[in-house]
Amino acid sequence: MVVALVLILGLVVGSFLNAVIYRLHAGVSFMKGRSYCPLCKHDLGWRDLVPVISFFMLWGKCRYCRKGISWQYPLVEIGTALTFLALYWRFDLSAEFYVLLAYASLLIIIFVYDLRYYLILDRVSIPAFCIAIVGSLFVLDISILSLVIGVAIGGGFFSLQYAVSRGKWIGGGDIRLGAVMGAMLGYQKLLIALFMAYVLGSLVGVGLIASHRKGWKSKVPFGTFLAAATILVFIFGDRILDAYTTAISF
Ligand SMILES: [Zn+2]
Repeated sequence: MVVALVLILGLVVGSFLNAVIYRLHAGVSFMKGRSYCPLCKHDLGWRDLVPVISFFMLWGKCRYCRKGISWQYPLVEIGTALTFLALYWRFDLSAEFYVLLAYASLLIIIFVYDLRYYLILDRVSIPAFCIAIVGSLFVLDISILSLVIGVAIGGGFFSLQYAVSRGKWIGGGDIRLGAVMGAMLGYQKLLIALFMAYVLGSLVGVGLIASHRKGWKSKVPFGTFLAAATILVFIFGDRILDAYTTAISF
């Protein structure tokens, strides 16, 4: 029963995140106004807005202009629902669970936005940073010291790369995302997440180059990997940390 509710919540939030991503890109306020088709601007009714189901009922086409709707819509809805479910599996209905839902939602926006537009918006990362400081200090078990070191390492690591490459490898958005990650995770889990992001990035990169879909010099949406790794560490971080401490104590 709770599982079904968490899934539905994930689908609804995913649908909202899609709207936020669209409106951030189009530069419209996301607090007011009805949902409309991005292609023909026709207002959408409730039948067009049921997460995932509407997309498949309409065969992926707008009811009014018959143009194709992006796969981003159902994929983000399903991805958000699965993320919420994994967090529920890991944290039950604890206070941590709700804080991590908020963190994951913000990271999903960053994940999709960087993947599509190669940009990490300050309008997302700055509020995320503020929310993370409050959530991590007051709800999650992260000490002030761990948070400060995490923010310093996260921001510093990318600032250094930014300085060395003169902004060619990464953008300023990555520096701010690094700080957000530090605030959300504390420094120990931040290190795991950074490592994981590089592993994920290399695996996907090698795959894309091998399949000739990208060349060596293609732009990399690194924020996408950082966001994905951070969410994975929310779910598996404690286990990885436990395994690691057990391993080095032998
Ligand atoms: Zn339309």
